[in-house]
Amino acid sequence: MKTVDLVVPCYNEEDGLAVFVEETTAVIETIDGYTFRFILVNDGSKDNTYLVMKELAEKYSNVAYISLSRNFGKESAMYAGLKYSGADYVVVMDADLQHPPKMLIDMCQAMDEGYDCCAARRTSRKGESKIRSFFSKTFYKISNKVSDVKMPYNAVDYRMMSRQMVDALVSLSEVQRFSKGLFSWVGFDTKWIPYKNVERKIGSTKWSFWGLFKYALDGFVSFTVSPLRILSGMGVLFSGVAFIYIIITLIQTLIFGIDVPGYVTTLCAVLFMGGIIELSIGVLGEYISRIFLETKKRPIFIVKDTNITVADNTPKIQETADEVPEDISIDSKKQSNNYFGQF
Ligand code: UDP
Ligand code: MG
Repeated sequence: MKTVDLVVPCYNEEDGLAVFVEETTAVIETIDGYTFRFILVNDGSKDNTYLVMKELAEKYSNVAYISLSRNFGKESAMYAGLKYSGADYVVVMDADLQHPPKMLIDMCQAMDEGYDCCAARRTSRKGESKIRSFFSKTFYKISNKVSDVKMPYNAVDYRMMSRQMVDALVSLSEVQRFSKGLFSWVGFDTKWIPYKNVERKIGSTKWSFWGLFKYALDGFVSFTVSPLRILSGMGVLFSGVAFIYIIITLIQTLIFGIDVPGYVTTLCAVLFMGGIIELSIGVLGEYISRIFLETKKRPIFIVKDTNITVADNTPKIQETADEVPEDISIDSKKQSNNYFGQF
């Protein structure tokens, strides 16, 4: 019997969570040879998601929950789930049923075939706004062109991974996480299975346009230093052009005497170069701000409450129990309120 942890980040999902657990349970009960456990991660929801989780944990014996101290973002919530998982395989999936639970059957099959990972890929983006699809497509196009880490367009955060791959992901402890890139970065054999986009039935998307833009920028800067190289290239190009222009002007002045330079030419050159310099500083700033955030080594998430104890997990986690602070193994009610995720 293989064990599987289903890591589900949840932010304001009080309306849909019970339906999600119900529908997923109906599917996993049909899969032979695997036992499943839900790890629901409450990402600082403003609604009653936490209470719903506790109720579900009482109702179903295979529902575990982790409640974070505030909203850390989906990436951190996923990381928390991965860190607490202990099963042979781990699945990450959304709580809104946009990731069809039926695909778990194919995913388990792929693992049986010997893959390290089985990931879902959307074949359509029906139901998503045109502008979001356009920007998303453009982001992947540019990113795949300039970065060594290739991220398949239309890949979603719905995948089943082997323990080995999860351990590799957990070992990447960067604070600004971009999982789509990290999944590719760690490597391992991945089987892709296509599915048609499912529209959200309950609740609404948590992403704003600005939020997605910042996320894309994070993804871009995390996986490539090409913008810095492009700036160096531009520096060389403009210096070259400037040098040639200086020589030409010098020769003209020597031969034809002092020329009165055009006001417009000077203004254009100053403004153009000013713009390029500001852009360069901006790009440098993007990288430096990330260095600044990473050097603080703040934890990726902070747990307020959980019903997962070390004893619940598989031997893999118990082996590393030495590194775990004592309070993780005590009863959830007595558990310290400021247990840090990054032990
Ligand atoms: N989510 C989260 N923290 C956040 C935002 C979202 O844990 O700050 C969860 C959310 O509850 C859902 C998943 O991430 O389970 C995907 O979110 P959403 O459906 O809003 O994204 P979309 O499907 O529109 O990309
Ligand atoms: Mg969704």
